[in-house]
Amino acid sequence: MKENIKQLSLEELTGVLASWKEPAFRAGQIFSWIYQKGADDFAGMSNLPQPLRRRLGENFCLSGLELASFRESLDGTKKFLFKLPDGKFIEAVNIPAQNRATGCISSQAGCKFACAFCASGALGFKRNLSSAEILDQVLYLKNDSSQALTHIVFMGTGEPLDNYDNVLKAVRIMNSDWAFNIGARRITISTCGLVPAIARLAEEGLQIELSVSLHAADDKVRDALMPVNKRYPIKELIDSCRKYINRTNRQVTFEYILARGVNSDLPNAGKLSKILAGLNCKVNLIPINPQKEEGLQPPSKRDILFFRDALVKSGVAVTLRRPRGQDIEAACGQLRLRYEKD
Ligand code: SAH
Repeated sequence: MKENIKQLSLEELTGVLASWKEPAFRAGQIFSWIYQKGADDFAGMSNLPQPLRRRLGENFCLSGLELASFRESLDGTKKFLFKLPDGKFIEAVNIPAQNRATGCISSQAGCKFACAFCASGALGFKRNLSSAEILDQVLYLKNDSSQALTHIVFMGTGEPLDNYDNVLKAVRIMNSDWAFNIGARRITISTCGLVPAIARLAEEGLQIELSVSLHAADDKVRDALMPVNKRYPIKELIDSCRKYINRTNRQVTFEYILARGVNSDLPNAGKLSKILAGLNCKVNLIPINPQKEEGLQPPSKRDILFFRDALVKSGVAVTLRRPRGQDIEAACGQLRLRYEKD
């Protein structure tokens, strides 16, 4: 199979072109066709010499994604299911708002981390996505979107920091002016809390947003919700976030799902504000999206607001996430790879 050309950085493509005795500026032209003009074949790249177009077509392909299914929510959220060449499936979501559109993309097919509340881990881990497969999702969303795609969040299937190199390569390309030119501050990596990877990310010199799925303020509750907590318990995780904040000068967001009877009463709010005291952070509260009728459920509206107000009173910055795309199973944690056959 031919290599997906999006696998290459500008430098790498320039290197290939040099070996073909082509000038360096062709690399920028080629990527501009792909990332900015939405070209779907090499033959139509009209400012390239014919022999180069042919040679590109002989050596590279342009996309590895095949649309398998598509659903649109009443609120405008669109969910795409893609089939990869090896038969694995991944999902990506476009979440439009008044003056922005956010692409929610996957970093892995399946997930290793098996959080109790999340559909993505339910079918286990399949494989890492390549950087090209990550970029292909962004490109697809961008070409489909009637609005400019302004923000990217790695909140689809998978754990981005468990596919570190490919995710970082894709982030750098998304951010480049020769590709999507999406500002680093508009790219969010969301993690279940892989402490060594957070330490590594702090050294990348990137202005990206880091979101940490915390979801509990004590180890007993977090162990039950997120098995990864047994490896990286709350204290170690918060310490690594503190170091990250100090090193990068960036605010960190803590995601906190609210589940009735589990983590959403006032004593939990008290514990949460205590462990976050003095950190440059904000908390994003997400009433849990139930996966099953008998499973975890969101608290009442009243309890959600009590929890939020308690945090606010103790000086924690809080936002309350409004669910989007619930009717098409595109809300957080609802993406399911149910088309997959093993
Ligand atoms: N592995 C990464 C990114 C994927 S999950 C992570 O753990 O952060 C993206 C976000 O959706 C995370 O904050 C995750 O905790 C949240 N999420 C998962 N299942 C959910 C559910 N049922 N309801 C609400 N949010 C959920």
